[in-house]
Amino acid sequence: MSTSKDKNKDGLQELQAQWASVRGQIRRKIGDALFKSWFKPLKLVSYESGIVVLSVGNAFQRTRLIEEYHDLIKSQWKEQNRKIKSIEIILVKNNKELVQSQSYEPFTDLSKVNKSISPKISADLDKRFTFANFIVGKPNELAFAAAIRVAESKKVPFNPLFLYGGVGLGKTHLMHAIAHEIKRRNPERRVIYLSAEKFMYHFIKALRYKDTVAFKEQFRTVDVLMIDDVQFISGKDSTQEEFFHTFNALVDQNRQLIISADKSPQDLEGIEERMRSRLGWGLVADIHPLNYELRLSILQAKEEKLQVNVPQNVLEFLAHKITTNVRELEGALNRISAFSSLVGKEINIEMTHDLLRDLLRSSQKKVNIEQIQKKVSEHFNVKMSDMSSARRSRTIARPRQIAMYLSKNLTSRSLPEIGRRFGNRDHTTVIHAVKKVEELRNKDLSFDEDVELLIRMLES
Ligand code: ADP
Ligand code: MG
Repeated sequence: MSTSKDKNKDGLQELQAQWASVRGQIRRKIGDALFKSWFKPLKLVSYESGIVVLSVGNAFQRTRLIEEYHDLIKSQWKEQNRKIKSIEIILVKNNKELVQSQSYEPFTDLSKVNKSISPKISADLDKRFTFANFIVGKPNELAFAAAIRVAESKKVPFNPLFLYGGVGLGKTHLMHAIAHEIKRRNPERRVIYLSAEKFMYHFIKALRYKDTVAFKEQFRTVDVLMIDDVQFISGKDSTQEEFFHTFNALVDQNRQLIISADKSPQDLEGIEERMRSRLGWGLVADIHPLNYELRLSILQAKEEKLQVNVPQNVLEFLAHKITTNVRELEGALNRISAFSSLVGKEINIEMTHDLLRDLLRSSQKKVNIEQIQKKVSEHFNVKMSDMSSARRSRTIARPRQIAMYLSKNLTSRSLPEIGRRFGNRDHTTVIHAVKKVEELRNKDLSFDEDVELLIRMLES
């Protein structure tokens, strides 16, 4: 006699078999390259009353699957099983099991792309810098959405797109991703990507050879011009002048410009006023410092691609300790995985500590409750004595809660001890403060950044 559990299992097996045939059919129809890009990461989740649920770990892939392949999947599946009524594709993030075998391979052969992007002037594109490899979280969601919009639009949605943020936060990655996607959609379009330094170099060379007309021509026939790190242009007058003219000419002709910098147009130094205001005309999208959640997601995604297994607690440890930027996160992960595969040892927290001593040193500094209270009062401009006072107005209570939260997280003091140090408060008050701050950090990006900043100041 078969139990209902067995029946479910059979049902699932049958469904898996159908899914395999559907994939086979689709693969034959669209070819290996497209199949690998779009269908490999897709997982079967469930089936109930005619609805099949599939999942994918990346928002961009999900949108594309829905826009371009939904109907194909449905019709293929209907051929296998007439009971199928609809196909849903959901986004599942941070789920190791579902993400596991998602090896994403870029579909464009970049040796070809590079040739078709003006061979003279455009820099090489990194083939790993695709949208699919970009992990999205609150700190970078605006920049990511804007980049997708520019890459997908037939018209120019905003001009220029100005991306800014600190070093190692993904500006170059996003620009390359836009270039890949534009070329994939239409290989005819002329995309030029170059650093501001290269732009200057070419310009100065053109001046020397009295060849500025040809120099200008290169840019004026381009569809999309991307200039990375324009903070390096500031100060050089003649280049700035030329950049300004090129910029205006392209905007007038409705060509897409994409600019990146480490600061917003307002904060860029050594830039002429008219240039500054021109840069801010389109959409200005910033990439905020990474929060813990995004750091962990990025580490998880990178870990998937490594040959060795890095335990979850080590990933969490790294996400806590390495707060600066993605490059450092990648560096840390590469270092421990290289070591582990060389010496054939399993990765654990202890080994991570040893290997990353230099990287972690900055965060090893011990802080005490008093230092926390002092820093927090300064930061929020409240009196140090208010950390222990009975005053309850929001402007005072909130900094106090933050200080309690930091005391809990950055020192080894117990809850009652922390309570005592904050004007003899009960330990339940401390628990409440910790919960409140956690909740606000999840909800409010600028609040989260404030706390993150305080942590960094205290630990450095
Ligand atoms: P920036 O140009 O802002 O200094 P990059 O674009 O060069 O930073 O990014 C540094 C490294 O971090 C690159 O290897 C890039 O792929 C990676 N990276 C940055 N942001 C992300 C992200 N959100 N998801 C995955 N990788 C990222
Ligand atoms: Mg860069």
